[in-house]
Amino acid sequence: MVRLAIDIDGILARFVEGFARILNDIHPGAIPLGYQPSSWNAFVEESLDVTPDEYRGAWGKVRDTPSFWLRLDAYRDNVLDLREYLTKSSAPWSREVYFLTSRFATGGESAQYQTCAWLRGQGIPNANVIVVDRMEDKTLIAVTLKFSAIIDDNLETVYDLRNAGVNAYLLDQPWNRVTTDFEDYRVPSLRGFLKREGG
Ligand SMILES: [Mg+2]
Repeated sequence: MVRLAIDIDGILARFVEGFARILNDIHPGAIPLGYQPSSWNAFVEESLDVTPDEYRGAWGKVRDTPSFWLRLDAYRDNVLDLREYLTKSSAPWSREVYFLTSRFATGGESAQYQTCAWLRGQGIPNANVIVVDRMEDKTLIAVTLKFSAIIDDNLETVYDLRNAGVNAYLLDQPWNRVTTDFEDYRVPSLRGFLKREGG
C-alpha cells in the first residue's frame, strides 16, 4: 500500500519568503530579495540586519497575521509535480496522500482550514491535512499511520523519523545542507520522491 505523507512548508509553500516579508515589515530592508537561509537560525546568524528581538517579534507577528498560511506563495514545480501525480498517475485511487504540517494558529481561520484552502487554491482539492503543534509530533503520527514514505525539509524531523523506523526523505534545501547524512534519502525535488515511493 502506498501511503505517502508530504510536509507543506519548505516543500509546497514558501514559508521562508512569507517570514522574510514579515521581518521586512518590522525592519525594512533587513532581508534581501530572494534570500535563502543556510540554517534554521540563519535569519539572526548570517550577519543580516536582524536582531534576536526582531526575530522573536516576527514570530509573534506571524501569529497575529490573519490568514498567514493562506497567503504563502508556492513552490510551483513541486505543486505541479504533485498535481500530476494525484491526477494523471495510472491508478490514483490506489494511493493515499496525507499532508503533515507543523503549523500554529494565526489570526483568522484555523491552520488546518487555511492549509486545506491553500491546497485547493493550488489545484489540490480534498486534501487530507493533519496539523500538529510541534514538529516532534510528526513522528508519532507517522508511526501510527504507517506511512510508506514521508518527505520533509527539516533535518531534525528527518532524523527523528528515521530513528523511529519511518522511511523518511529530505527535500534538498539551502537550510538543510549542513550535513551529508541521508545522502540516499535526499531528493532534489518532490518529483524525485514521487518517482521512488509513489508506486
Ligand atoms: Mg517543512
